[in-house]
Amino acid sequence: MIKGVFPVEKFHQLNTPFYYYDIALLRATLETIRREIEHKPFHLHYAVKANANPRILREISSFGFGADCVSGNEILRALECGFTPNKIVFAGVGKTDREMEIGLDNNIFCFNVESIPELEVLNAIASKKGKTAKVALRINPNIDAHTHKYITTGLTENKFGINEQDLPQILKLMKSLMNLQLIGIHFHIGSQITNLTSFEDLCVKVKELQEWFNRKEINLPIINVGGGLGINYQHPNHIPMADFESYFRLFKKNLQLQPNQELHFELGRAVVAPCGSLISRVLFVKEGIKKKFLILDAGMNDLIRPALYQAFHHIENITSNKEAALYDVVGPICESSDLFAEQIMLDESARGDLISIRSAGAYGETMASQYNCRNLPLSYFSDQL
Ligand SMILES: *Cc1c(COP(=O)(O)O)cnc(C)c1O
Repeated sequence: MIKGVFPVEKFHQLNTPFYYYDIALLRATLETIRREIEHKPFHLHYAVKANANPRILREISSFGFGADCVSGNEILRALECGFTPNKIVFAGVGKTDREMEIGLDNNIFCFNVESIPELEVLNAIASKKGKTAKVALRINPNIDAHTHKYITTGLTENKFGINEQDLPQILKLMKSLMNLQLIGIHFHIGSQITNLTSFEDLCVKVKELQEWFNRKEINLPIINVGGGLGINYQHPNHIPMADFESYFRLFKKNLQLQPNQELHFELGRAVVAPCGSLISRVLFVKEGIKKKFLILDAGMNDLIRPALYQAFHHIENITSNKEAALYDVVGPICESSDLFAEQIMLDESARGDLISIRSAGAYGETMASQYNCRNLPLSYFSDQL
């Protein structure tokens, strides 16, 4: 079995668990995205919530990409890490007054607005500051992303976005909201989408809305199709990068932009997931009645995806070359969901072996908690070890 390449000697000297980031892979990914979108009216705003580690953010901002933020503190973090205000967009169903102020005070590019009351409050706060907030309307396109129910966001049963039927009323209302400027429409249908036909469905919806706004003679410079492109969690060593080429080609083929229109993307997972691994040590090998448990020093507080959405991560023992055996790989926390994998084949493992949980660069470190008063995981980078 091919395994990932890790500086195991160096790892032995470090306390576990920790996140390890392959900076060369991150840069190769960013280079690929840049190549795919240059010479097209396409722009990327990286979704900060996927990984807000300052080192990772600096790498991404150094490529000239923008940031998609979902909280005021994410805006501040993005600014600290080199993103320019005119490339920051701010989304979220529940923005507080303080967060709107952070956005306005820093003159961010755009607020992706998700409801009528939000429009009214944003207008009032902007008016008090004598500013104009640029807004894109997040529209719920009622499209099934065919992904896990907790990461599907574009169905009418989800809390996100504005329903199309409300658009006429919103346009009327916006005429009286003098401190808002409508610059675009925004969509985000879900995450870890690997069946690209969901994005084709989205394009059909976008086209309908482009035509609808055209008929109303409303000029929309920005069409924002959100993020959601999935990665291959099964085979990180064979398929270390998302299929950006097919993804961007799909939008190029299925959408017709007007001469003044830009297409914006908010990829998160596809940018950062493959470059991160959670490295942990085997504490104990426990022989159960019917199975063997590999008890790690990493738990669901370090990486919650398996417990939260039954997510799959490829797992390797990076210090053993013995014959493989079947294991349940679990954490130390007193929750039955603190389980990374059930009945998987791993090279025979012993106390002290190092285990790599792969493709953990997105929604890993950002979702870590101090549950059980545990320490937050540290992070290390391939070019600094
Ligand atoms: C989470 C989120 C994204 C990023 O999603 P990925 O699946 O990580 O690409 C983009 N836009 C919005 C509005 C989001 O909430």
